Order: sequence, then structure tokens, then C-alpha cells
Amino acid sequence: MNNHIQGIGMTSQRTRDRLVDRLRREGIQNQRVLEVIRTTPRHMFIDEALAHRAYEDTALPIGQGQTISQPYIVARMTEIILENGVPDKVLEVGTGSGYQAAILARLVPKVYTVERINGLLMKARDCHRTLKLMNIYSKHSDGSWGWPENAPYPAIMVTAAPEHVPESLLEQLSIGGRMVIPVGSTNGRQMLKLITRTPSGFEEQTLDAVRFVPLLDGSIR
Ligand code: SAH
Repeated sequence: MNNHIQGIGMTSQRTRDRLVDRLRREGIQNQRVLEVIRTTPRHMFIDEALAHRAYEDTALPIGQGQTISQPYIVARMTEIILENGVPDKVLEVGTGSGYQAAILARLVPKVYTVERINGLLMKARDCHRTLKLMNIYSKHSDGSWGWPENAPYPAIMVTAAPEHVPESLLEQLSIGGRMVIPVGSTNGRQMLKLITRTPSGFEEQTLDAVRFVPLLDGSIR
């Protein structure tokens, strides 16, 4: 088990250090984010057959047509969420492999994460248990509806792309809260947006061009 977490060869610490050097060169500046990426075993969140590629800066398939996000995107979205200080909780929509949630869990007190494909959620929970990340709360449902019971959230991170920002997520953002979300069609261009709730409404900033799997309706086994 220990070997599994620590990794050897292409999953070793040296390989992980190289990934972090690369993220730094690509412009990621938050030292805490870089340190958490350096010390989190991404290879545990993907299939063993692909584990040797875990520390390449690339998205990889995780089954059911879904992907684990590219490390650069994980770092970038996490950095944006932390820009104004550490929020006391984060809502993530689209648990997928559980990797992004694991990164967040080491930086913020509480992570709520919602996934529509139960099979993926089960695997993600296993990884979180193995890594003893006890501050991740997860739910199987359509995350377009958010997770109202724990709202409002000072930070929301959406890791699948809707064509329009879901109204329920806007409603669950606290005043001063920030939501980072890719918006656009699957085949066309998606843009990463930062939406900030103000006392009188919402401010929207357009950041990078990105590629995410689509945010879909409903939940499945
Ligand atoms: N954050 C993930 C990225 C996974 S890809 C990671 O670190 O691996 C996006 C995920 O969003 C997929 O698992 C997909 O099933 C999920 N998803 C898509 N639409 C959703 C919805 N409406 N509610 C919850 N999850 C959704």
C-alpha cells in the first residue's frame, strides 16, 4: 500500500517534481498549490494501465467517456479559488476521478463534491479513503442543482462545461463568493469564467480558452 502511494519509476517523486517545475514555468505561482500537487499521488486516481503517464501535463481517460483534468488546469483553477484567501468550504461539480477534490481538500477546510456517474464516485471515494482525506463530502446527483443543504458557498468550482451557467449554482454562491466555471459548447470553444457575487449582482471575467467534457443532465449508475 505504501509503495502504491509513494510510487516508483514513472510515478516516483522525481517524476512528480518535474511536473511541478513545468507548472511553475507555465505560470502557476501559488506555492501551496504547487506543493500539494507535488505531494499528491495523481497516479492513484487513474487506471493502472495509464499510471505511467500520470505526471504528464495532460488529461487522461478515467472510463465512462470522462477524463481526469490536465494538471495545469487543476492548478490554475485551484489558484483562482484561493486568490482572495482560503475559503472555509468549496463546492466542486464533477468529482470524476476525485483528484481535483483531493487537491482542494489539502488546501481548504471542507470540500463538497457532486458527481452524476455513481461508478466514478465510488472509485473516487476509495482513493480519498486510502489517502485519509476525511474532509471531502460527496454526493451522487446532478450537480447543476448544486448541493443546497450546505449553501451558500464562498467558492464553487465546476469541472464540466455547461452552455450556460446554471442558475442554481449562482444562487448558492455567497456574497463575495467566487465561481470558476468553463462555459461553452462541447465542440466549439469553451472559456473559463470567474464569476463573483457582489451585493447587487454578479461580475463576470473571462479567463482562458479551455476544453472540458460537457456538463450533462441527470444522474446514472
Ligand atoms: N474534477 C474531475 C474532472 C472530471 S471530468 C477530476 O479531477 O478528475 C468531469 C466530471 O463531471 C465527469 O466525471 C462527469 O461525469 C461529471 N459531470 C458531468 N455533468 C455533471 C453533472 N450535471 N453533475 C455532476 N457531475 C457531472
